[in-house]
Amino acid sequence: MPLSASTPLLPEVAAFLSESPLKAVIGGKDVASSNGETFPTRDPGSKELLAEVCAMQADDVDRAVRAAGEAFEKTSWATMPPDERGAMLMRLADAVEERKAIFAQIEALDAGKILAQAEWDVQNLIDTLRYYVQMALHVERRTTLAAAGFEAYAARLPWGPCGFIFPWNFPLLLIGWNISPALAAGNTVVIKPAEDTSLSAIYLARLAREVGIPDGVINVVPGPGEPTGAALAAHPGLRRMSFTGSPEVGRRIAAACGRNLVPVKLELGGKGAAVVFDDVDVAQTAEKLVGAITFHTGQVCCTASRWIVHQAIYPELVHLCAERMKALRVGYEMDSAAQMGPVVNEKQFQRVLGYLKRGREEGAEAMLPGGPATVAGRDGFYVQPALLAGALTNVAAREEIFGPVAYVASFRDEAEAVRMVNATDYGLANSVWTRDLTRAYRVAEQMAAGSSWINCHNVFPHGVPYAGIHKSGLGGGVLSVETLMDYWRNLSVVRAP
Ligand code: NAD
Repeated sequence: MPLSASTPLLPEVAAFLSESPLKAVIGGKDVASSNGETFPTRDPGSKELLAEVCAMQADDVDRAVRAAGEAFEKTSWATMPPDERGAMLMRLADAVEERKAIFAQIEALDAGKILAQAEWDVQNLIDTLRYYVQMALHVERRTTLAAAGFEAYAARLPWGPCGFIFPWNFPLLLIGWNISPALAAGNTVVIKPAEDTSLSAIYLARLAREVGIPDGVINVVPGPGEPTGAALAAHPGLRRMSFTGSPEVGRRIAAACGRNLVPVKLELGGKGAAVVFDDVDVAQTAEKLVGAITFHTGQVCCTASRWIVHQAIYPELVHLCAERMKALRVGYEMDSAAQMGPVVNEKQFQRVLGYLKRGREEGAEAMLPGGPATVAGRDGFYVQPALLAGALTNVAAREEIFGPVAYVASFRDEAEAVRMVNATDYGLANSVWTRDLTRAYRVAEQMAAGSSWINCHNVFPHGVPYAGIHKSGLGGGVLSVETLMDYWRNLSVVRAP
């Protein structure tokens, strides 16, 4: 059992993990996989086994989609007044809040996420649930239409069972962003969490049952991409599909949904830039940029991984950033002194080291070399932050590394900076840093992506759409009123006089 000297494991967390193998939640029941297969889930900070988890097979996934279909058709979930459904979801938000410390420990241990960040993620799920419940209460569900010679109106109705496949970097937060609008609109859901981080999803589905959300409304099918994720994406019983993850897998999901003509939204990777002009407070900006690239050990889709810096402040900014990165305390996620935790698994560890090697081989200069990090008493997947510099054609500047590796390059004028930002296939989020607000808004509108941030990075206020373009996303986005609308289909009703 993993234990930290600084943060003892809560008895509820220990009891949950001791139920190993942890089962799926299908139709309100805890269900083992049809062939008895399980897979291990480990603490990235110590490589210790947290629990075995049941690996759901294609027939199990089929059962889950059917359970979601039955809950949609046969319970009152989809048809009950929005305030009744909202009251149940508010009870779920309250129950998560009461167990915030439990969720945070589960999430921290499973994802290798610094405990304080995990607490923030849990609060974010609570806030997102409440945000969409409130919104669903106030959106007009029927609109009278002006139709010559007829009485007509448009109605907004839930679709039915919706599928969700998630990555491992923000397991609970992303569940909140994606299923909250679907549920508030009256749909039912089947969640396939990432195989590295299934625990919080299972705990959440159990809690939903406890607070009285009808069986089958929230189903969780843990397992690997193949066969579990693939079976969900290809299931013809879904009415909508949402995928968050890499562009490579996103293409497969879109192809599978296309075959069934199931509408799909994809939230994919990124290679975000931060453009820094020479009128900024250099020390303050260095602090913010280092904060952005080391937040959750750089495993953040929209983080600023390319720093495009005006040549006049380039040497000073690079020096200050390298100093800050060097001083950062890499440590165990449950240790309150740690500022940056491990990466999630061996594959991700090797990926980060591989990009550092290839980047150097292609001519990048190491302003800070990075590499493996050691943490006393913990055999985890720890890496040091790294800062590479050079041409943006370098592999480390072009491809998503998903680790604490920033790539820095200098620019002479605004037009060159914008060209450098846009020299990528990705289009998730960028930022511009300057005191000149006219310039800030001008540059913000020229950077091709779903989000442009000014003098900040990695900010996600509820109500502001977050959606990638190009290789970073397709068909939707999250966090805004449009996301709720996505989970209602439109029906036109016309009556002859
Ligand atoms: P991934 O694409 O490897 O896996 C994501 C999910 O897809 C996992 O649950 C996995 O089991 C599943 N999967 C894998 N193969 C599958 C298949 N053949 N069929 C169905 N499902 C399959 O991504 P990852 O490594 O877990 O996460 C990192 C990626 O996620 C990065 O590219 C990151 O930028 C992206 N991401 C994007 C956002 C966003 O909001 N745009 C948020 C977080 C992460």
